[in-house]
Amino acid sequence: MKITKVCCQGCGADLEVDESVRYVTCNYCHARLEVVHDTSVTHTRILEKLEKNTERMAGNLRVIELQNDLERLDREWASRKDSFMVRGQHGHRHMPSTGGSVAGGIFAIVGGIVWMSFAARIGAPMPFPLFGLLFIGFAIFSMVNGASKASSYESEGRDFEQRRNSLIRQIERERRD
Ligand SMILES: [Zn+2]
Repeated sequence: MKITKVCCQGCGADLEVDESVRYVTCNYCHARLEVVHDTSVTHTRILEKLEKNTERMAGNLRVIELQNDLERLDREWASRKDSFMVRGQHGHRHMPSTGGSVAGGIFAIVGGIVWMSFAARIGAPMPFPLFGLLFIGFAIFSMVNGASKASSYESEGRDFEQRRNSLIRQIERERRD
């Protein structure tokens, strides 16, 4: 058994330790120390501090990972949202809405009815009055299509918000620890 003198990294006290031991607790400050045998000197390293550092690093990595997930989610939703966009009457793109689809559909149906009654009143020849019917059919089709698009857009949007909020909560939790 060979005794060697080391200096505690926590409080500076001189400690006598067996050269064969790897870990020691300081008699004075109770720091857990690792005895490091270098080629020339033997010194100590505080273990708890090290452990805390690695823990903090792991925590940081987790936060970075979660932030990447958040960014990816945002990107995915942005492109998904783009696929839901509908082209409005004036050529501008906007998100589908149930109210907008229904209002547009009713407006178009009324237009078709007006067309048919006008064609009937002036005694237009056949296929003219029928164009109104075709127009109404198309209006109903786009109304249903628009409303279903709007409802899946809304439900996917809610789903996205939920996933996003849970990621943000996780990031906050990791940061707090
Ligand atoms: Zn000490």
